[in-house]
Amino acid sequence: MEFNKAPNIIGLRVLRDNVIWLWEKNKSVVVIDPSVYEPVIRYINENNFHLEAILQTHHHSDHIGGTKYLIKKWPNANVIASAKEKKRIPFQNISVEDGETLNILGEEVKIIEVLGHTSSHIAFFLNGKNPILFIGDTLFSGGCGRIFEGTYKQMYSSLERIKSLPKNTLIYCAHEYTKANLQWALNLKPRDQDIKNKLLEVEKKLSLDELTIPFLLDEEMKINLFLRAKNLEEFTFLRANKDLWV
Ligand code: ZN
Ligand code: FE
Repeated sequence: MEFNKAPNIIGLRVLRDNVIWLWEKNKSVVVIDPSVYEPVIRYINENNFHLEAILQTHHHSDHIGGTKYLIKKWPNANVIASAKEKKRIPFQNISVEDGETLNILGEEVKIIEVLGHTSSHIAFFLNGKNPILFIGDTLFSGGCGRIFEGTYKQMYSSLERIKSLPKNTLIYCAHEYTKANLQWALNLKPRDQDIKNKLLEVEKKLSLDELTIPFLLDEEMKINLFLRAKNLEEFTFLRANKDLWV
């Protein structure tokens, strides 16, 4: 399936492997999971944009760390986060729940709760002609989030929920983990040609200093062992196996 990356969404690589996504429309910017603030402020200033909103998928510091400083600079910016996390995501002024729909930059954005990595993780789904999903740490290319607070069952259901979205959904996750994930997958399935091809493609992109994200749901379902898992048992085996992989 052919696809074009959304031209108005750019990724800033920060820290060791985090990616902060900036979604821009008519000079207004929405930032997703700002782990840090300096590169975000620099990018927004250089382009004469202004910050409209911050979307938070979950409370981990490598997702909310920059928020405090960004709202100091743009006090009118909305901070949108799960209503269950008023304490752990302190600067939220729009608190959302599963299934709720918001209008952000003129687009309909649906909140999808995807539990497992934390007890309140949410994703932001833009249901347009070319659907877009900001998934945080629930799904990575070739992998999925570690289960810190939830259960295997919750994480498995979250992945099932993602799989039920339109196949042409473009997925933006918060970490560039793709290569290591595929190496793990290939170790388990050494003859899998789809995974082999994907690893080559990913190595090429990384050697050119490009991001391997976003990725297309349809393609991801072919190479991601967690999405390919046929039942909770298989998923649990994979997740436990991956946790032990160094
Ligand atoms: Zn996290
Ligand atoms: Fe993270």
